[in-house]
Amino acid sequence: MATRTFETQAAASHAEVEREIVSYDPSTGEELGRVPLATAEEVAGAVARARAAQKGWGALSFRERGAVVMRARALLLEGMDEVAALVSRESGKPEAEALAMEIVPTLDLMQFFARKSERMLRPERLDIGLYRFMGRTSTIVYRPLGVVGIISPWNFPWAIPLGEVVMALMAGNAVVLKPSELTPLVGLKIGDLFRRAGLPEGLLEVVTGDGRTGAALVEAGVDKIMFTGSVATGRRVAEAAARKLIPVVLELGGKDPMVVFEDADLSAAAHAAVWGAFANSGQACASVERCYVQESVAEEFTARVLSVVRALRQDPSARGGADVGAMSSERQLRTVEEHIRDAVARGACVLAGGERLQCAGTFHAPTVLADVDHTMAVMREETFGPVLPLMTFKTEEEALRLANDSDFGLTASVWTRDLRRGRRVAERIEAGTVMVNEVLYTHGIAQTPWGGVKQSGLGRTHGRLGLLELVAPHHIHVNRLARLHDVWWFNYTPGAARLFRSLARRFATGSLLQTLLLSPQMLRRYRERKGK
Ligand code: NDP
Repeated sequence: MATRTFETQAAASHAEVEREIVSYDPSTGEELGRVPLATAEEVAGAVARARAAQKGWGALSFRERGAVVMRARALLLEGMDEVAALVSRESGKPEAEALAMEIVPTLDLMQFFARKSERMLRPERLDIGLYRFMGRTSTIVYRPLGVVGIISPWNFPWAIPLGEVVMALMAGNAVVLKPSELTPLVGLKIGDLFRRAGLPEGLLEVVTGDGRTGAALVEAGVDKIMFTGSVATGRRVAEAAARKLIPVVLELGGKDPMVVFEDADLSAAAHAAVWGAFANSGQACASVERCYVQESVAEEFTARVLSVVRALRQDPSARGGADVGAMSSERQLRTVEEHIRDAVARGACVLAGGERLQCAGTFHAPTVLADVDHTMAVMREETFGPVLPLMTFKTEEEALRLANDSDFGLTASVWTRDLRRGRRVAERIEAGTVMVNEVLYTHGIAQTPWGGVKQSGLGRTHGRLGLLELVAPHHIHVNRLARLHDVWWFNYTPGAARLFRSLARRFATGSLLQTLLLSPQMLRRYRERKGK
C-alpha cells in the first residue's frame, strides 16, 4: 500500500512504498492512480518477452509495420482529447499545450515514419573507388538491433517516448519503455494505444518504476538504450552501458541561448522569447534559458517582453483556460527558487514574477530577470522552469562568445532580419540545432535530427539520423571475379613486394590512370600466382 502524501512526494519527487508508485496531479496535489514498481526480475522478463516477439516483427515488411503504426495513429486522433487531458493532469501543463506540443507533433511523426522509414533505410550501394574495377560491390543493409530500451523523462511524457517507440518499431525492433516515475500513467497509455492498434504482444513492454527500474533495464540485456533526462543520470546510464558494451543515445539538458540583434523584428522576438521561456512552464530541454539582446534595442525589447508576460494567464483552477501550467514537481520548483535567489543576491533585478503561487499545486509565476551575468547559476546551470534572464551585448562577436560560454549545446536561436548574418552566426554557435527567427519547436519536426553537443548529449533522435541510431548497418561485400585470386594473397615473393610498392605509389592515389600503368606488373603477379 502506498502511504505517502503529496507533500512527501514534493520532498522526495515521487512516492513509492514497497511495490507501488503513486501518481499525482501537480496542479492540485490530488492522487491520480497507482502503478507497480517493477523489480529487476520483472524488467528482465519484459526484455525476454520483447526479444521473443521481435523475431517475427523484424521479418515483416515496412508496409506491414507501418500499418500498425497508422492504426495507432488513427486511435490517437480519435482519442486525442482524452490523451491530452491525461497528459495535462499528470504533468500539470494546460490541455491546449498538451495538444500543441505532444499530440500534433506525434501524429505527424507517426505518419512520417510509417510512410518514409523504408525509403530512409533502403540498402545503400557504397562508392568503393577503384575496387569496383576489380569486380567488387559493397552494400549497406540496415537490420534491426533487437530490443531497444527507452528511458524517458516527465516533461514531455507522451511525445518523447512515443516518438522513439514509433521509430524503434518501424526499424524492426521490440521496445521496453521505462517512463518517468512522475508520469507512469501516460507511459502506460502509450502501451495501451499500441495494444489496441493490434501490435503483437511483447513488442512494446512498459515497465513502470523509478530510477532503480531504469538501472535494471540497462542491465537486462537490451541492445541499445535511448535515454532522455538529466546530465547526472545520463552519465550513470552511460557508465552502466559501457560496462555492458551496449550503445546509448543520450538526450540531456540544455541552457539554450537566444540572441536578439538590433535589426530583429522585435515584436516577434519578444513573443518568441516569452513562449520559448515559459511554454511547458519552462520545463523543456530546449527552453530559452538565456536571452542576449543588443544594447541599442534592449530597452524596447524588454518593454515588449514585459507587456507579453503581463497578458499571460496562470490559474491553478482553470486547466483549460491557462497559459502557464504547474511545474511537474516540488523539487523542480525549488531549483527555480534557488536560481532566482542566487541571481538576486548577486545583483539581478526581478522585472516580473519572482515567486511561486500560493496554492496547493506547484506553480511558479513567469519570471523575467535583468542585470544578470555569467557568475549566476541562472546563466550557467539548467533552471528548467519559467525564468527568462535578459542580458545585453554590443557586438556580434560578444554575442557569440556569450552564447558559446556554456557547458551545454542543445539548441539556440538567432533573431535578425539579415538572414545572411543569421546563418553566419548560426554556424558558429555550438549547438545541435540553431534556429534563425524561431525558438524551441524543432523537436516537433520529426523530419529533422534532434540532439546536442557538449553536455547536452550524444547521438540523435528524429529524422534519418535518428532512425539510423535504431538499426545495425550490415556491410555486404561481393567479389564477382573470384577466379582472379587477389594479388595480396600468399606467397610474398620479391615480385609481390615490388607490386605492393607500386600499389602504394599509384593505386592508393585513387587515380584510374595511375593504376592502369600497373597493368603489366599485375599481370605478372597473376601469372606468378597461377603457376603455383
Ligand atoms: P532524470 O535524469 O531524473 O530521469 C530521466 C529518466 O531516467 C527517468 O525515467 C528516471 O526514472 C530514469 N532514471 C533515474 N535514475 C536512473 C538510473 N540510475 N538508471 C537508469 N534510469 C534512471 O531526468 P528528469 O526526468 O528529471 O528529466 C529532466 C531532464 O531531462 C532535464 O535535464 C532535461 O533537460 C532533460 N531532457 C532532455 C531532452 C532532450 O531531448 N535533450 C528532452 C527532455 C528532457 P525516474 O523518473 O523514475 O526516477
